[in-house]
Amino acid sequence: MREDPDVCTAIEEIFAKEQITIRARAECVRFEQRGHDIAAGVNCTPGEPELVVGSHLLLAVGRRPNTDDLGIEKAGIKLDPHGYIEVDDQLRTSVPGIWALGDCNGKGAFTHTAYNDFEIVAQKSAGWPLTPPQRPDCLLRLFIDPPLGRVGMSETQARATNRSIRIGNRPMTRVKRAVEKGEAQGFMKVIVDGQSNEISRCDRSRSRR
Ligand SMILES: Cc1cc2nc3c(=O)[nH]c(=O)nc-3n(C[C@H](O)[C@H](O)[C@H](O)COP(=O)(O)OP(=O)(O)OC[C@H]3O[C@@H](n4cnc5c(N)ncnc54)[C@H](O)[C@@H]3O)c2cc1C
Repeated sequence: MREDPDVCTAIEEIFAKEQITIRARAECVRFEQRGHDIAAGVNCTPGEPELVVGSHLLLAVGRRPNTDDLGIEKAGIKLDPHGYIEVDDQLRTSVPGIWALGDCNGKGAFTHTAYNDFEIVAQKSAGWPLTPPQRPDCLLRLFIDPPLGRVGMSETQARATNRSIRIGNRPMTRVKRAVEKGEAQGFMKVIVDGQSNEISRCDRSRSRR
């Protein structure tokens, strides 16, 4: 939902080719047994298909941190009420010399936020001379097929700055290697500063999450 509308549309089209249908903003979701199948009601709007029927139902409605079997209470490390390890903005736990990185601290739930945690600890606590980390909302790696990746601002973010920008767009059908490999779905988009022609980067001074 944070990506540009053209990106969302492209992904929806890719899913559609795999017979994956997205029903966003579904209201009054409900389930009922239909013989050996299960039916999910996904919309209350008259005229829309009322039920999706299938053999199985997977509910992906949140995650619980897997911190309860670590025995970290023996080290005196504090958890928050949801079971995430409590950290400050340098990812220090309540015990000096112990940091918590990645999903377990509840501050992000992505590969790139976990990596950004490493960058924060490496720079701020260990003093490693790394290049300044990108803000995680300026990075995206979505492990669909083909994968979706973004570095720097989305078009929406760049337009909101009111700076002049230039946008280039190339469908993968125009990329010969993609065509050769039979992976020509989707597109590439580049957004650069109107004056410098540099990729529109996020302002790193803003907070991490
Ligand atoms: C289905 C699914 C899809 C996802 N899709 C995306 C996506 O498209 N894009 C994206 O950016 N992120 C995605 N994520 C999230 C991403 O995988 C996580 O945010 C990221 O892996 C977190 O990194 P981490 O190092 O904190 O934890 P993990 O990668 O989970 O690593 C933790 C490691 O610790 C090990 N471990 C656990 N307990 C112990 C123990 N007691 N002793 C020793 N080792 C232990 C585990 O085996 C594991 O190897 C997805 C996650 C899931 C589950």
